[in-house]
Amino acid sequence: MNKEFQEYMQKELVELKESGNFNSIRTLESPQGAWVEIEGKEKLNFSSNNYLGLANHSELSKAAQKAIDEFGVGPGAVRTIAGTMSLHDDLEEKLANFKKVESTLTFQSGFNANLAVIPAIMSKGDVIVSDELNHASIIDGCRLSKAEIKVYKHGDMESLREVLSGIDANRILIATDGVFSMDGDIAPLPEIVKLAKEYNAMVLVDDAHGEGVLGSHGRGIVDHFELHGEVDIEVGTFSKAFGTVGGCIAGSEILIDYLKQKARPFLFSSAVTPADIAATIAAVELLEKDDNLVQQLWNNAQFFQDSMKDLGFDVGKTETPITPVMIGDAGEARKFSDRLFEEGIFAQALGFPTVPRGKARIRVMISATHEKDDLEFAIDKFKKIGKELEII
Ligand SMILES: *Cc1c(COP(=O)(O)O)cnc(C)c1O
Repeated sequence: MNKEFQEYMQKELVELKESGNFNSIRTLESPQGAWVEIEGKEKLNFSSNNYLGLANHSELSKAAQKAIDEFGVGPGAVRTIAGTMSLHDDLEEKLANFKKVESTLTFQSGFNANLAVIPAIMSKGDVIVSDELNHASIIDGCRLSKAEIKVYKHGDMESLREVLSGIDANRILIATDGVFSMDGDIAPLPEIVKLAKEYNAMVLVDDAHGEGVLGSHGRGIVDHFELHGEVDIEVGTFSKAFGTVGGCIAGSEILIDYLKQKARPFLFSSAVTPADIAATIAAVELLEKDDNLVQQLWNNAQFFQDSMKDLGFDVGKTETPITPVMIGDAGEARKFSDRLFEEGIFAQALGFPTVPRGKARIRVMISATHEKDDLEFAIDKFKKIGKELEII
């Protein structure tokens, strides 16, 4: 490799370390659970998106093992060439019923689902109107589409209207996260749908952090707002509440038929493995059957957030189990996270550029599998370290 470029990369890495923005990745010696083993010690897990504890659920593991026995481990090639396994069809049908849409299509990840759908439906001469805090995969999907991208202020319907009113385009798509992962706030989807109708725009909502969390039985943001049939495109992931890996697009039958012919990640990248698909089917069946886990998740979140507020912590504007504990300075947030780790808690500090400068925080991801004792243990530690670092 070119020597100058190697030196450039070295310099970048040093700068990331010096500015406190270097990602160091923890190695787990256990499954993703309420507690995880790191460096031989048990740590309370406040870092995973495993909202319902399904990543390590016995029914999902059993379903995955059975699928491996019946279907093997790999899909063979892309579905249009090697054929599709009945498992994938089953999951797509089950997801359509669960989400109350006509049809769904699965992808290798949520990230890929955005890269698949946005460029397939938008191109030159079209305009995408995007919330300023949208997920990287929406942003990349927009860039790949070659459509013009206009950004509106986060969750701000005045700003959205202002942007929409100035557009002269072939097609317009409004794209938004459902739940914003850094603050835990929910997109004002009913207002977005209303504005979309007024300006003849389509709506895409990425429900990655809403599935398994919002709505009855965790059916997601569309169910939460009772907007069935009013949102053109729902993007989903299996890697959060569903506990596995994969992504999905939900919408009309004609949209799904079109994506099967046009979406490049569908045409040129192989499907998710039988084990993942079977485990995801088990997750959907489990949620259909009862919503105890979803209720437990919300009870836990309520208890934790109330207790933290009582202690004097600022948990921002969250409306979901995502709990940002605002610290401010990035260095302080990192120190807080390191102290938590020493005290037995694995919770990440997030700083610039993931969140705005001066808004660094500890992000606590609550799970249904946390026991009351676990949460009380954490609240005690937050209190101790909050006082130590003069945050409260
Ligand atoms: C996590 C996330 C994704 C990516 O999902 P993966 O299945 O992990 O690729 C996409 N969009 C949003 C909004 C997310 O939060």
